Amino acid sequence: MSDATQPAIIWFRNDLRLSDNPALRAAAASERPLIAIYVLDDDNAGDWKMGGASRWWLHHSLESLAASVKERGGKLVLQRGKANDIIPALATETGAAAVYWNRAYEPWAIARDKKIKATLTGAGIEARSVNGALIVEPWEISTKQGKPYKVFTPFWKSIKAGHTPADPVGVPENLRFSNVTAGDALKDWALLPTKPDWAGGLRATWTPGEAAAHGRLGAFIQNGLADYDTARDKPAITGTSGLSAHLHFGEISPRQVWHAIKHSEHGESEDADSYLSEIAWREFSYNLLYHFPEFPEDNFQPRFDHFEWTGTNAEFEAWTKGQTGYPIVDAGMRQLYQTGWMHNRVRMIVASFLVKDLFIHWRRGEDWFWDTLVDADLASNAAGWQWVAGSGADAAPYFRIFNPVSQGEKFDPDGDYVRKYVPELANLPKRAIHAPWTADRATLARAGVTLGKDYPQPIVEHAEARKKALAAFEKIKDAA
Ligand SMILES: Cc1cc2nc3c(=O)[nH]c(=O)nc-3n(C[C@H](O)[C@H](O)[C@H](O)COP(=O)(O)OP(=O)(O)OC[C@H]3O[C@@H](n4cnc5c(N)ncnc54)[C@H](O)[C@@H]3O)c2cc1C
Repeated sequence: MSDATQPAIIWFRNDLRLSDNPALRAAAASERPLIAIYVLDDDNAGDWKMGGASRWWLHHSLESLAASVKERGGKLVLQRGKANDIIPALATETGAAAVYWNRAYEPWAIARDKKIKATLTGAGIEARSVNGALIVEPWEISTKQGKPYKVFTPFWKSIKAGHTPADPVGVPENLRFSNVTAGDALKDWALLPTKPDWAGGLRATWTPGEAAAHGRLGAFIQNGLADYDTARDKPAITGTSGLSAHLHFGEISPRQVWHAIKHSEHGESEDADSYLSEIAWREFSYNLLYHFPEFPEDNFQPRFDHFEWTGTNAEFEAWTKGQTGYPIVDAGMRQLYQTGWMHNRVRMIVASFLVKDLFIHWRRGEDWFWDTLVDADLASNAAGWQWVAGSGADAAPYFRIFNPVSQGEKFDPDGDYVRKYVPELANLPKRAIHAPWTADRATLARAGVTLGKDYPQPIVEHAEARKKALAAFEKIKDAA
């Protein structure tokens, strides 16, 4: 039997916000004093424990959430280790009657959460999980045949026809926290880089936390939404919302985003539809991850298991460092390293280059992104890589090979994006900025560029690599 003085635990995970947080709402509705906890669970995450840039974000996001909890008279307890041990132990120590959390969909998290639920329930403690991260959970949506969607367009149509999200809700008014003192100091988790401190560009670019997430959404609605459909493909300008890390860490919910967009001045426009379809790509990625949990590690189409990856470590290193000799690729990789984020168009270009020009497995690119992106997300990262590689569900056809020069010329026509991230090319004229090796000597000299010294010669010849890729794909085309 439980009595009303027994506390309830609200276990924060990738839902680092107070508003529109269904688990927090359910916990508050129990009218019990609340204990708020976040667990850094690297052990269960295994190979998918958070990378460096995500850890930087997490530090600041936790700081922000802890401040919001403190304002309401509580303390965000921080503990590091296996949540399977920590959550039941905290519940027992504090005599908690219930534990509430929002669901996660990473395979390792699902397995862990099931165990925790069983342990808690076995001990007579209520364990309640709810949906705080998605518009539609994977088991709520299926094709007419009752199968998981593997193609995006019908998935998106189905969301619009029958799964539009309910109105978001605010911060519960009756939040009452219990007095707890235990827990780690955030700084002891060493989530921030020190030797060296490589996070200067991240600090200059991002402000993690719930308030900043809403600020970014508001600014996007005011300045970006009306022109999203065309501006979203231009990496030199701020044409997208920049909400991916805020969404990943749950500082804002997709339904808050959905409703803010829908209720805005341009809410019924094609631009709004196009924007919400990107939010739906996030949903689709989670849908794939849930139904095909091997998706982040294995080719969705097994015929790609036979592909011959012949790229070298030196080529991989040149790619990571933005030293491939292809300016749009190098600009993207340097933007990633400096700011922890890369424009979507350029993500596609650099990914295609790694897989189809350098013949390096998409898993290596996925791992690099995992470590360097502030928005690193198991579902969206895997879906993005498998889409580009051609090995995924609803993927780009294998013969779609991005040409890094024409992509640069089309989407960065003035070369401003390249000039910003590859400053050694800044003085090249527009006509040569995406293919410096085509410039004559005088042009290069005027721009102060000696190829092979200030900036590399292309490490592969794209036309040759393209032919080789098509031949390699031809070989596996009919494999099972
Ligand atoms: C190789 C590759 C890897 C990627 N890895 C990630 C990743 O780890 N994490 C991640 O969040 N996104 C990933 N993406 C998708 C996409 O590039 C980013 O979501 C987007 O660039 C984030 O910028 P934004 O918030 O300004 O996007 P906006 O254009 O403003 O889009 C709004 C939101 O929609 C979602 N979204 C947009 N495009 C996609 C997409 N293609 N797939 C899934 N969701 C999308 C994001 O949550 C984004 O914040 C990857 C794409 C590729 C090609």
